[in-house]
Amino acid sequence: MSGRLAVVGLGPGDARFLTGEAIAALEAADAVYGYGPYLERVPVRPGQSRHASDNREELARAGAALDHAASGMSVAMVSGGDPGVFAMAAAVCEAVEHGPAAWRALDLAIVPGVTAMLAVAAAAGAPLGHDFCAISLSDNLKPWALIERRLALAAEAGFVIALYNPVSRARPTQLASAFALLARHLPPVTPVIFGRAVGRADGSLAVVPLADAAAQHADMATLVIVGSALTRLVDRPGRPPLVYTPRSAPGGNE
Ligand code: SAH
Repeated sequence: MSGRLAVVGLGPGDARFLTGEAIAALEAADAVYGYGPYLERVPVRPGQSRHASDNREELARAGAALDHAASGMSVAMVSGGDPGVFAMAAAVCEAVEHGPAAWRALDLAIVPGVTAMLAVAAAAGAPLGHDFCAISLSDNLKPWALIERRLALAAEAGFVIALYNPVSRARPTQLASAFALLARHLPPVTPVIFGRAVGRADGSLAVVPLADAAAQHADMATLVIVGSALTRLVDRPGRPPLVYTPRSAPGGNE
């Protein structure tokens, strides 16, 4: 019997964000693989083995889970948010492309989850109401010059920009550089949303104009959404402002 590998998105935070499909995939698993902090979010089930790993060993972790599944077991690999967004699903596909033929015969399921960008956007209003893009600021897997080029072109093209991996201990200055670059293309009042640990008990949200956006507002658990020139703030009495991007651009039909 050939085995099964489910690459499961856990959503941004606590169990409220698990989809029914994710719950079923986790319940059906003989073994669960994942980066330690994500694995800790999965309730322990008797008889289910758990395999925690370091965040930087994606391909090795994918290979171990695929081998385990190929031995005829039902294996789940967990990711925060959505597994296809800067996460394990692509590493698993890459391992399958280059790995043994037996891995291609496996029943492979990618189970989507609520990605951080959507959770932060929902908490702020509707900043992704018009065209948007997502860029990881991590230059582990691509050169910084390419990130700068994408930021400049995205801002110039009028995309709202979601920034994943805004900072890390190894990259303390890059978010500040990104804001400085974006300020050359966008008005100083452009809303910038900092969503930290959204969906968890200690989550927080802040909205500041681009002119005041500082790298100190973000850490590794923060998702940053930089508005476009069309993104607006709606003030409300006793409540935080709504941030939204109208669905129509100038020249479009209402
Ligand atoms: N697969 C994940 C993203 C992994 S990259 C997803 O779909 O959400 C890791 C980055 O995601 C972090 O540096 C941060 O920018 C963002 N992130 C993940 N969880 C978050 C949360 N609960 N709140 C805010 N940002 C989060």
